[in-house]
Amino acid sequence: MEFSEEEIKFIQFCVDIDELSCKDTGCPQMHQCDFERKNYYCTSIPSTMRNSKELSQEQRSIISFFCHDPRWTDDCKIPPWRKRCPNYSFCNDEWVCKKLLEKLELPIPENLKRPVLKDQRILEHEIKKIILNNFSEIDWKLDESVTYYAHEEVIRTGRVDILLKGAKTLYVVELKGGIATREHVGQLLSYVGCYRENLPTGIEAVKGILLANDMDANCKMAIDACEAIEFRKLILKVEISL
Ligand code: SF4
Ligand code: SF4
Repeated sequence: MEFSEEEIKFIQFCVDIDELSCKDTGCPQMHQCDFERKNYYCTSIPSTMRNSKELSQEQRSIISFFCHDPRWTDDCKIPPWRKRCPNYSFCNDEWVCKKLLEKLELPIPENLKRPVLKDQRILEHEIKKIILNNFSEIDWKLDESVTYYAHEEVIRTGRVDILLKGAKTLYVVELKGGIATREHVGQLLSYVGCYRENLPTGIEAVKGILLANDMDANCKMAIDACEAIEFRKLILKVEISL
């Protein structure tokens, strides 16, 4: 099978992620690696691709594992590893990693990163700044008053936008600059589940708030069926007084 330079670059990038990261996230071929001797099974994949050889089932399972890593950010980085995938400026309508999965007939993860949404991420970043700078003026429409707890916290299932704290409840806020989808509900649920597994001190309950301009029909159905998450409509107002 022939592989493009970009496909090989993507895999090389994933392979170069240090072993401590993959140890945490459950690679299916971990048993084939000798971490003490730094002998890693996945390092064979780029050369197999360069030589246009067939990938083994084990190698394919690692590629699938790389692409399903929930820690990918929307700007194609894996925290705490700060480098960005080398295809970032290349990937636009066609995402190299997605094409690779399709070529190998491997399942496409829901959280697959979309550099085409770069502008949206910039927008979300700006909105987040506005929220954090005007925190005391925001009415979250909750049954209790809340205070700022944290933002951009990296957890096992991803990176959390904003955390609010009530009396005994932690609220995980996921911000979307456009229309929320059911994939966003799933993403937020994974954050809520992660905090519920390890409740911070003084916290007895964890809930999610999906904050977006609007939601599509599937998202609404998912939210209606889910007690852990509430939707909040994001309305930004600009006031100019002369
Ligand atoms: S094969 Fe690679 S990704 Fe998998 S556990 Fe070993 S070093 Fe980590
Ligand atoms: S979509 Fe992102 S992670 Fe995937 S190949 Fe492109 S830049 Fe890399």
